[in-house]
Amino acid sequence: MKTAIYNPAPMTLGLIATLAIALFLSACAPSGALPNIAIPKSKTTAATLKSEKHMIAAANPLAADAGLEMLRSGGSAVDAAIAAQMVLGLVEPQSSGIGGGGFMLSFNSENGEIAAWDGRETAPDGATPGMFLNLDGKPKSFAAARLGGLSVGVPGLLAMLEQVHAEQGKLPWAKLFGPAIKLAENGFTVSPRLAQLIAGASALDTFTPTRNYFFHKDGTPLQAGEKLTNKKLAATYRTIAEQGAKAFYLGPIGYDIGQTVREASVNPGTITSTDMVAYRAKKRDPVCGPYRTMLVCGMGPPSSGGIATLQILGMMQEFDLQNTRPGSLQAAHLISEASKLAFADRAAYIGDPRFVPWPEGLISPDYLKARAGTINPSAASGPAAPGMPGMSSHNKYGTSDESYGISTTHLSVIDANGNAVAMTSSIESAFGSRLMVRGFLLNNQLTDFSFRPEVNGAPVANQVGPRKRPRSSMAPTLVFDADGNTIAAIGSPGGSSIIGYVAQAIVALFDWELSPGEALSMPHFLSRGGAVELEINSAAEILKKPLEDIGHEVRMKQTTSGLHFVGMKDGGLVGAADPRREGVVLGD
Ligand code: GLU
Repeated sequence: MKTAIYNPAPMTLGLIATLAIALFLSACAPSGALPNIAIPKSKTTAATLKSEKHMIAAANPLAADAGLEMLRSGGSAVDAAIAAQMVLGLVEPQSSGIGGGGFMLSFNSENGEIAAWDGRETAPDGATPGMFLNLDGKPKSFAAARLGGLSVGVPGLLAMLEQVHAEQGKLPWAKLFGPAIKLAENGFTVSPRLAQLIAGASALDTFTPTRNYFFHKDGTPLQAGEKLTNKKLAATYRTIAEQGAKAFYLGPIGYDIGQTVREASVNPGTITSTDMVAYRAKKRDPVCGPYRTMLVCGMGPPSSGGIATLQILGMMQEFDLQNTRPGSLQAAHLISEASKLAFADRAAYIGDPRFVPWPEGLISPDYLKARAGTINPSAASGPAAPGMPGMSSHNKYGTSDESYGISTTHLSVIDANGNAVAMTSSIESAFGSRLMVRGFLLNNQLTDFSFRPEVNGAPVANQVGPRKRPRSSMAPTLVFDADGNTIAAIGSPGGSSIIGYVAQAIVALFDWELSPGEALSMPHFLSRGGAVELEINSAAEILKKPLEDIGHEVRMKQTTSGLHFVGMKDGGLVGAADPRREGVVLGD
């Protein structure tokens, strides 16, 4: 039973009630005695939507509309997610699309199965461990590595969506492309955020197709409110709608992707048709663990998102956060300390599981309890070291650098039958590699690998290698209560900050019982292994000095979360969208 707690294969609702009860009985250590300071309650928060039947939260109103249209036509949560994703690739092209990858957590209400779908990009056969090093052996700058063909991984999103649809789709595949094709042909309005990011993106005019799409003939960037069509993407979508994902991987689209990557005028890469044909999405077991009376399930490696979130929550289980005020100094301190420990393990142990097996002890309650025991409740510790999760025959690896994203997208859906989806998808940084093919941008996901293949002579877990998937931080998450209700489908963009955003939101929703709108609007505090990061220009600034007083280094940072949440509550549904981006939540 214990193994099943943290390594469910397959995880079903049958296990959930037992887990939850066992966990609730675990003792809570008292929290330390820090000054009773907390982030003041915000006067303006995102709205919370309540509805009865079905609900979708996504990063753009047109995408949420498309998803809702599918739900209203009797589509499943998976159908709605696919339709919304196709629109996102059009209207939020900087964040995600068929030129990228993603991860999905799904709950199938028919058989109770919780599944984790891996559509992460893979490195081509031509990739090498040192490909992001300069000739002098030093890592390239991120901007230099991102641009052009070298950073492009074989896209995985479409293969994943087709695989999930074959299992959990109800509507015909072609129908799911309808809203996006119509918008691409008839035009949509450029949103303020898209316009702002076009204007601010470096090197976006490097390659002709991309320049022609995002800039006017006189070189000025598209403005918010302008109407934009994308006939090339409409044609691509039509082909894929009619012929399926094979048209993308096997046919002329795949050929064009390879050619664009190999013939890029800057940083040519190596993707070939063989790399495209070899791509496989994977259905994986989710990583699941207890939190209070709930079961939290996330995406395992190659994402670090699920494990790190479960670790933070697993450590927080040992503290009595429910009795601290929302956004308290105490909570910010404890969560930051737990995050430091989680990020130390993440750096040492997580990579593509095909190449780097991960120690499952990382999410065992005993291990997390022991790790929590090392946290001083009233003072910051120094840098955290990786733990020894019940072993270790596993290698520990050198550590690698972190990304901090303004792109990527997350959507959450629950349908009328109780099926749920949490999906985060990405082309990595805003506008990816800047290469555009047939109306869509190609990702730069390979820069999520460590640029340094070794640190102090030890190989890095997240080293580049052929057919390897780069480590991610994406954390699509499903949370279940003891009765098996999906009380949260949640996730966010934000690079390695995703982990902190999701963990904080879960604490805000369920320990502090904030409404979804309040929880998603709450100013952020997080740590990615080093300093505590507080959301700049927000009420979280009140925590700066008190955190410094107990030994933390504190940095004020602009945070770019885009949390989207849908969950069951009191027999109905509730949902909210992060006010920091352009998302909405819709339902009936
Ligand atoms: N590429 C990042 C990852 O997979 C996501 C980037 C972002 O959230 O902006 O973790």
